[in-house]
Amino acid sequence: MPTLSRIARKGQAAYVACMSNYVTDVAIIGAGPSGLFMVFEAGFLGYKTVVLDALPQIGGQLAALYPEKPIYDVPGHPHILAGDLVKNLEAQAAPYSPTYLLGEPVESMDEAEGVFTLQTASHSVQAKVVVIAGGGGMFTPRKPTQLDNLAAFEASGSVRYAITKKHELSGKDVVLAGGGDSALDWAVELAHIARHVHVVHRRNDFRAAEATVAEMMRLVEAGKISLHTPFQLDALSGENGQLTEVRLADLDGATRNVAATELVCCFGLAPNSGPLSNWDLGLEKGVLPVDRSTMATRRAGVLCIGDMAHYEGKVALILTGFAEAAVAAKTVQAHINPERKYRVQYSTSKGVPGTPGVA
Ligand SMILES: Cc1cc2nc3c(=O)[nH]c(=O)nc-3n(C[C@H](O)[C@H](O)[C@H](O)COP(=O)(O)OP(=O)(O)OC[C@H]3O[C@@H](n4cnc5c(N)ncnc54)[C@H](O)[C@@H]3O)c2cc1C
Repeated sequence: MPTLSRIARKGQAAYVACMSNYVTDVAIIGAGPSGLFMVFEAGFLGYKTVVLDALPQIGGQLAALYPEKPIYDVPGHPHILAGDLVKNLEAQAAPYSPTYLLGEPVESMDEAEGVFTLQTASHSVQAKVVVIAGGGGMFTPRKPTQLDNLAAFEASGSVRYAITKKHELSGKDVVLAGGGDSALDWAVELAHIARHVHVVHRRNDFRAAEATVAEMMRLVEAGKISLHTPFQLDALSGENGQLTEVRLADLDGATRNVAATELVCCFGLAPNSGPLSNWDLGLEKGVLPVDRSTMATRRAGVLCIGDMAHYEGKVALILTGFAEAAVAAKTVQAHINPERKYRVQYSTSKGVPGTPGVA
């Protein structure tokens, strides 16, 4: 069954059905912010890119987990919605006409005579350099597997693991399960638009940032949020997959029922590095050791950037991945064109394709 792939040409994106082979300079695994900016940095030095991602859309965690949340620490943007940052990164990469192959994990990487071949279920990509921008890996949400009839409520959308359209929860009674940053950030955000928010956590203390906990407690006092701790999800009720009630239980078996039509589970992501552990790159605890001066892994021609790249002092933030992409581009050039001396070039002087005076 051919998959839909997104091919961007001269700044325009098109969807085509294909089952095909691609030949490129740089194959980028992961279309999160680091992978998207890698397209720009490689393109700026004259290299073609193919970007592969297991998710059906670009943007990595920003698109999958928090597209409508504002980010405050991307330089030059006092605040920007995660989804808008993804759109901007896509637009910034577009002059270099990347090919996006989405919706299928990269399953294998083979190397012969200095050429890497990446394989997904329906695509084969040959590249001179591979840049892994795999972030937290092929993440899958942790689920409340103790709930018998979970699948039916998932299918109807009553149970979700990420909020991609927060307006869908406007005016609703929402149960938010979890005690970390993601759960509490959303509890605070939704308290302003939902009819009521119930936060369920199996401990009395929360792992989230102090300021977020304080804001949530303020909203509890204001009657916008109800806290249920130490409680966990026990059973779901409803008809035809439409949720009407969530039963909670504490560790002693005492139960309480909460009327709600939406359940959002924020239990984090199950670590899933996919096939990368078989590629002899030294993957450990979901991260790859790299030389921070080149972003090279221990395999020549295979680089790693973004959250998945690890070195002493690493700060796993979006802005770190951007800077690492610039370093990796220099390494790409050293690998593909060792005869070419690397010189820092300013974008203000060089421009990008499509700008006046640039081919
Ligand atoms: C709720 C929340 C709020 C956050 N807020 C901030 C913030 O305010 N500021 C900040 O700097 N950071 C923030 N972060 C962290 C930020 O999202 C990450 O640092 C960033 O997403 C890392 O980008 P990345 O490109 O390295 O990886 P990711 O965004 O994780 O993208 C990696 C991509 O690689 C793909 N992939 C992995 N393995 C494979 C494979 N084998 N085949 C195909 N595809 C694969 C995945 O599907 C994924 O799309 C936040 C994170 C969360 C969860």
